Amino acid sequence: MSLNLQTPIDYLKGVGPNRAKLLRQELSIHTYQDLLNLFPIRYIDKTKYYQINELQRHSSEVQIIGEFTHLKEVSQKRGKRLVATFQDATGTMELVWFRGHKWIRESIKLNTKYVVFGKINWFNHAFSIPHPEMELLKDHEKSLSTAMQAIYPSTEKLSNKGISNRVMIKMLQQLFTETSLNFKETLPAHLIDEQKLLSKNLAVFNIHFPKSQSLLSKSKFRLKFEELFYIQIQLILKNLLHKSKIKGFLFKSIGTYFNTFYQTHLPFELTNAQKRVLKEIRSDMGSNAQMNRLLQGDVGSGKTIVAFMSILMGLDNNFQTCLMAPTAILSVQHYNELKIYCNKLKISIKLLNSSTKTLERKEIHDLLENGELDILIGTHALLEEKVKFKNLGLAIIDEQHRFGVAQRSKLWKKNTIPPHVLVMTATPIPRTLAMSVYGDLDVSVIDELPPGRKNIKTVHRYDSNRLKVFRFMKDEIHKGRQVYIVYPLIQESANMDYKDLMDGYASIEREFPKSNYQISIVHGKMKAADKDFEMQRFVHGETQIMVATTVIEVGVNVPNASVMVIESAERFGLSQLHQLRGRVGRGAEQSYCILMTSHKLSSDSKTRLATMVETNDGFDIAEVDLRLRGPGDLMGTQQSGVLNLKIADITRDKDILQQARYVAKRILKKDPTLTNKENDPILRTYNELSKYKNIWNYIS
Ligand code: ADP
Ligand code: MG
Repeated sequence: MSLNLQTPIDYLKGVGPNRAKLLRQELSIHTYQDLLNLFPIRYIDKTKYYQINELQRHSSEVQIIGEFTHLKEVSQKRGKRLVATFQDATGTMELVWFRGHKWIRESIKLNTKYVVFGKINWFNHAFSIPHPEMELLKDHEKSLSTAMQAIYPSTEKLSNKGISNRVMIKMLQQLFTETSLNFKETLPAHLIDEQKLLSKNLAVFNIHFPKSQSLLSKSKFRLKFEELFYIQIQLILKNLLHKSKIKGFLFKSIGTYFNTFYQTHLPFELTNAQKRVLKEIRSDMGSNAQMNRLLQGDVGSGKTIVAFMSILMGLDNNFQTCLMAPTAILSVQHYNELKIYCNKLKISIKLLNSSTKTLERKEIHDLLENGELDILIGTHALLEEKVKFKNLGLAIIDEQHRFGVAQRSKLWKKNTIPPHVLVMTATPIPRTLAMSVYGDLDVSVIDELPPGRKNIKTVHRYDSNRLKVFRFMKDEIHKGRQVYIVYPLIQESANMDYKDLMDGYASIEREFPKSNYQISIVHGKMKAADKDFEMQRFVHGETQIMVATTVIEVGVNVPNASVMVIESAERFGLSQLHQLRGRVGRGAEQSYCILMTSHKLSSDSKTRLATMVETNDGFDIAEVDLRLRGPGDLMGTQQSGVLNLKIADITRDKDILQQARYVAKRILKKDPTLTNKENDPILRTYNELSKYKNIWNYIS
């Protein structure tokens, strides 16, 4: 009989329509395949049986043989709890349930030998186990004996309805009985040999019913490898397809603009990382395919100059270029910086944002269309219908997390041949994550800061130390520096947050009287023009203190500001803290970041704060962030590949990911269409996976 793993779960003996419905609802198990892919979250050693008088306060999970002697319901603050007295030859203890009483009462047999298993609690000088697993001793002795017992993911509803871990195990046993361990091998023999992988059958069986610790770890490795391997195959194929299908402009040569700038105007020596990245960009644009590259570099790593030199490559080949920034302030900053270089090279450059006057707008439109304008800097305004280039060869997008993918592709539509696209981001994405979600994009990394940068000294202070912090701020201001004070603004508690901000502002005004200090305030409820006015006062050094919500997060450049005070720092995420800190440390002076918090801190908050104090490196911070929040939160929802991993974990399985990627690349390089006989299993599995809309849920 050919085995079809797409058989609905209802057909599995012992499941039936009710359980099937629950399994669908609670765990998205629709088919045999889904059940097979419900990987255990952990395993417990069931070779040891404890006696009640052996229990220790630090024992965690224990297995005990004994009998129920008594059951009673006890009222408590909310509802009731069901308490059973459980006894063996050495003593008695309690087993406790807070829900599902009816089912428990009906199913427990008094004075009959059971094996119970669960986590020990020490409460009121007695041991108890809440919600234990239970099995009749006679069944226990018959059941498939494995040293390691799998614990499956579950939900409250499932356990209330009697689908306990034992039931899950029984269903899997049944599945293996029905399928008689006859799964199609999904990896080619040459790969299994080379990587010393377990066969599909052995791996799938041992992940659920491990015969030994060593078989368990080999099974895990095989299945993780397979999962990551097929994600990589998919991403790399997508990338290859993109490159073969989407022709790009060929930037044949490096010419006068680039060379002149490099030899005479470049104000500093490029870092090795900048040079490497420029080579990567050059090689993309010099090939026949369209560039689609992500440039990652921490705040201050010098992305702008890389962008500008890429623009020069375009100009050398007679193409127009544009650079889009997420805010007006940033677009002005870029414009001012690049204009200086452009003047030296006699290149035309214009700025287009919401403040551009109608007349000038018209002029820009015309110059663009007749090809007289070389470079256009701007904001979303660049995406408007009316903005038409004569020959846009390269589009650069700064700070991509502010733009959606849809917006980005609007830029492309301006040409019949899409321009090369370079997306720059200062929010570092951990390399492992970039590798797996952006496998279809090419990624360049500037992982080196220009020489001579001082680390920003970062400290954590409690609210009770505020007076000292004020004194420190005054010292810095008296040295001529400027200070940011940032308050959190979370949408859900916006009103409270504004109150905090205003209270904070009032206390700062008291502490820093108008006679000696000038204070700016900027927040989201202000009109754009007022915000801008206050911003400019701070930029020009007319005010010494900037009190603000996170609106200043992105890109603002005030080199004279050397102190960043972050209020309620425990409420910010790591990447946000890092972005905020990046607002200082832009000048020659030593800069400081002070993280203010109350004494009440969760363990995650403590980790975040400690990470900030410990390191200035955006990539290290991103790795911690990924560990704390998981890939889902970090990337938003659109990058689904890594989010639904069934068994691999990109934060922990980096090495396997790297290996899988390396192997996938090598195979596709030799056999890009997967038509070599020896790669049959890959093609077949890949095609099967692609049949399903969300293929990652169905990786087998
Ligand atoms: P970001 O990557 O955050 O956009 P910028 O491009 O604004 O960083 O660069 C930050 C500062 O470092 C700028 O003042 C820039 O002129 C300077 N810079 C960039 N590259 C170098 C370098 N190789 N050597 C010295 N200074 C540099
Ligand atoms: Mg920048």
